[in-house]
Amino acid sequence: MPSSTDQTLQVSPIPAFNDNYIWMIDNRKEAVIVDPGEAGPVLAALQKRSLKLCAIVLTHRHEDHIGGVSRLLQEYSVPVYGPRFDPIESVTQPVQEGDIVTIFELDNLQLSVLDVPGHTKGHIAYYAKKEKWLFCGDMLFGAGCGRMFEGTPEQMWTSLSKLAALPDDVEVFAGHEYTLSNLKFAREIEPDSKALAARIKEDVAKRNRRQPTLPSTIGLEKATNPFLRADREEVMKRLESLGKLKDHDPVNAFAAMREWKNKYV
Ligand SMILES: [Zn+2]
Repeated sequence: MPSSTDQTLQVSPIPAFNDNYIWMIDNRKEAVIVDPGEAGPVLAALQKRSLKLCAIVLTHRHEDHIGGVSRLLQEYSVPVYGPRFDPIESVTQPVQEGDIVTIFELDNLQLSVLDVPGHTKGHIAYYAKKEKWLFCGDMLFGAGCGRMFEGTPEQMWTSLSKLAALPDDVEVFAGHEYTLSNLKFAREIEPDSKALAARIKEDVAKRNRRQPTLPSTIGLEKATNPFLRADREEVMKRLESLGKLKDHDPVNAFAAMREWKNKYV
């Protein structure tokens, strides 16, 4: 837990269900909650730190990301930002790419909205440019990506490429703790990668200490996440050698990995 008394914004995880992270951004007085899948842990975290909820932001419409909203709204009357193209009843401020969510209560924190369809058709991510934070829901995970429920491989690849284009030092706050199982799959794709071996060592140690592996960074994901590396020679060659890719095409390489991963775990 943070101990400082200054007004700097900070982000903390609120674990929920088996492996979800609800992210809380606060200035030690007020808090924004990202993807509250359940209300109980959020209310407990707010109470414990004497914080007042000032807004809820949602990345996509799946229940494990929005299930706690109505209960939170019974306690706090706050705006709910969410994807314009993913129907969510509780959203009061629908947003889409090009919009900027400004949180007046958190020293005018600005969250730029990015459209990242594929996991759901309306999935969005929130990018805090100044703070270098990315809240990406179920689109990008530590060493992995979300399942392709409502998109095409091309759409997923375009969405992931958009996130990969952010600066390397942007911190990635994803919606689930899936990193270790994703890393196991990543090693199938790049068994000789030193960057991957180093990440596995570090993230296994974090989990052994019961710490989150998140946030990671865009730079680390670009170096170790196979789904951001579908256009790399070495990745395509590996998939070809395994008989999983017939042409030298990043979108097909992405599709082949996504399909393999679906059956892998
Ligand atoms: Zn989801």
